[in-house]
Amino acid sequence: MAKAITLVESTHPDHRALAETVLADLPRPGTPSLRLGLSGTPGVGKSTFVEAMGLRMCAGGARLAVLAVDPSSARSGGSILGDKTRMEPLPRHPNAYIRPTPSARHLGGVARRTREVIRLVEAAGFDTVIVETVGVGQSETMVAEMTDIFLLLLAPGGGDELQGVKRGIMEIADLILINKADGALAAVAQRTAADYAGALRLMRRRQTDPDGVPKALTLSSAEGHGLAEVEAELHALAAWRREAGVFAATRQRQVLAWLDAEIGIALDALMSADTGFGTTRETFVDAGMSGEMTPPQAARALIQRLRTP
Ligand code: GDP
Repeated sequence: MAKAITLVESTHPDHRALAETVLADLPRPGTPSLRLGLSGTPGVGKSTFVEAMGLRMCAGGARLAVLAVDPSSARSGGSILGDKTRMEPLPRHPNAYIRPTPSARHLGGVARRTREVIRLVEAAGFDTVIVETVGVGQSETMVAEMTDIFLLLLAPGGGDELQGVKRGIMEIADLILINKADGALAAVAQRTAADYAGALRLMRRRQTDPDGVPKALTLSSAEGHGLAEVEAELHALAAWRREAGVFAATRQRQVLAWLDAEIGIALDALMSADTGFGTTRETFVDAGMSGEMTPPQAARALIQRLRTP
């Protein structure tokens, strides 16, 4: 599996062709998987949470794959689940597979790689997949677009904290987890959770979810309090959505989004292929930017050029 992942991550054209053959021939997973997205700013406790929750899930019989996405990366290869975690128990658990992020690429490339890696680990029998991302840029949206349930990990803080969180991410979060609810921060964490719960009720978006979703819960990944409740909440929401057909509909929509993204990537590749078209494309873009053509005119002219090379 590690070899197959390395293959799909490769940008070499020969590898790409082989990767696509491998992906096309993958068996369909027997049991339905649960795909979890996880986001939070650096230092909020993502690694600690994954370690603690991952061990719980594995102890309960799950086969867990943890993948990291870090497209913004000023960090270099393999740091999000860095060296530290390799010394901890989860990576050594027989039911767990942890794949750190490869070096940074542009978002489209990262999205494709991650979707393909999800397919690989599921075909290999991993029934639970956590896709972890640092809370920056558009990576959360991208991860939400490839998972069933999206978790946002936050640190305890006052009401002001609420203002600081981007509205967009609140809208995609299915479960807000206030981590570090221990020691001196325990009381603050409770207040933060109550503030978020209130805010979430106001902006709740999915009519298809049960009442009270999305919830805001407190936990301490370091000490372990609240993990059982979070896990129970996750499974309850997953069961509900599966039963209501929401997972199936979401995944259909995600496949469509993936298809659209791939069409975009393929068109981009075609337009910037080394055939002299790249410069022509620039010409149309310039024309659109300068006002010489309207953007729709420039786009149509560009497509026309593509049809009659
Ligand atoms: P990440 O950057 O989001 O992956 O955060 P880490 O998991 O590396 O945690 C950052 C720091 O917060 C580390 O020093 C952790 O020990 C600490 N930390 C993580 N979870 C908790 C928690 O539940 N309680 C407390 N008090 N500290 C925590």
